[in-house]
Amino acid sequence: MGSIFDDALRRLDVAAEHADIDAEALERLRHPKAMLQVSIPVRMDDGSLQVFEGYRVRHDDTRGPAKGGIRYHPNVDLDEIKALAFWMTCKCAVVGIPFGGAKGGVVVDPKKMSRLELERLSRGFIQAIADFIGPDTDIPAPDVYTNARIMGWMMEEYSKITRRHTPAVITGKPIPLGGSLGRDTATGRGAYHCVQELEKRRGWKPTNMRVAVQGFGNGGQVVAQHLHAAGYKVVAVSDSKGGIYKAEGFDIPSLIHVKNETRNLEAVYCDGSLCEAVKADQLTNEELLELDVDILIPAALENQITAENAKRVRASVIIEVANGPTTSEAEPILEEHGSLVVPDILANAGGVTVSYFEWVQNRQGLYWTLEEVQQRLKEVMQREFNAVYNLMEEKQIGMRSAAYVHALNRIGAALEARGTQRYFQDNT
Ligand code: NAD
Repeated sequence: MGSIFDDALRRLDVAAEHADIDAEALERLRHPKAMLQVSIPVRMDDGSLQVFEGYRVRHDDTRGPAKGGIRYHPNVDLDEIKALAFWMTCKCAVVGIPFGGAKGGVVVDPKKMSRLELERLSRGFIQAIADFIGPDTDIPAPDVYTNARIMGWMMEEYSKITRRHTPAVITGKPIPLGGSLGRDTATGRGAYHCVQELEKRRGWKPTNMRVAVQGFGNGGQVVAQHLHAAGYKVVAVSDSKGGIYKAEGFDIPSLIHVKNETRNLEAVYCDGSLCEAVKADQLTNEELLELDVDILIPAALENQITAENAKRVRASVIIEVANGPTTSEAEPILEEHGSLVVPDILANAGGVTVSYFEWVQNRQGLYWTLEEVQQRLKEVMQREFNAVYNLMEEKQIGMRSAAYVHALNRIGAALEARGTQRYFQDNT
């Protein structure tokens, strides 16, 4: 596997041909603004000391302070964090929120740690990066295998270091510590708004639509739940241990109940707290991607749809809840099939949008109702989805390229406003 960052930049080249952006501005986006690598010594429960590697990358802050999650995963490396930070720059521009892009990660398998070890690691990471982040410079949030409780520890640690209560330094916090209502479900909800807009444009009848969801975590569960409630048939779901398939569709609230109680994905139907096993076929994550469904939702990790398997993907619409699930080589193969890819930088932007709302509320010290948050999220997603879709039709390009063009136009305008070579050389 080559560099994910280089692969991510390839999308820039394709979109740049259609965007209103200066060559200098593009060159700047090829280089992350700042990168920090840290070692985090952690005292383990058995008294031993383990040292973990961590990273924080600030890709660009032309449009505002950099924003991006923190990932805990054994496969985290600097190249992946650079790619994720680049996608954040583009994502914030796609939805028009005044942030640049950043990302962080720690090389760790959190499933092998006790809760106390995880707390020491999280506080240790903040001690190591405290000078690099801040509510006006770089604002972290949760990502894969990090959650609201971890964000709460991190906010508290940062506030201790700076001796100021600073909720706006991090988003995705628990509600009692300044979190926003609706943040926990925002990514899945935003993706669902994209499906709703497509439904209107394409005249879909939800009960005729079969859906497969890869990754049944925060993003995957919420989008599956909304689709199920709207009448879509969610016929397959999976997690890191594998997947289940049922042609008539699953009762998603039952699956979520059991997954969250037992941490296992089991085919069940629950009536209240009584859950009964339901007949379903087992399938692998690879098989899930190739199922005969209408909508495929990758909601796990990067590089799932590749040049190798893209020709076997049968879904006509792919909604990228995960970041980077489709490689740049797979993209033309999907386009040749006529599959529409609603790209990650749009489809999963609901999370960062409500993170922005959380930051605004923290700075105002004034908190919004759930209805206000959800209404504002819906407005953003509907407006930006349709802007990207219209650009796709107008320029006759793929939807991913259209999303990048939309983002580059906004980033380009901000760079232009500061002055480019053209401006400084033109003395008239
Ligand atoms: P999560 O940790 O809540 O869930 C991840 C899920 O993926 C888990 O169910 C896990 O078992 C499953 N998984 C892991 N490896 C897998 C594999 N090889 N095959 C199938 N399933 C696998 O994480 P999340 O927050 O839902 O994030 C999922 C994706 O969505 C990531 O790419 C993340 O960057 C992206 N995303 C999340 C948010 C957010 O707000 N949570 C926002 C934007 C993007």
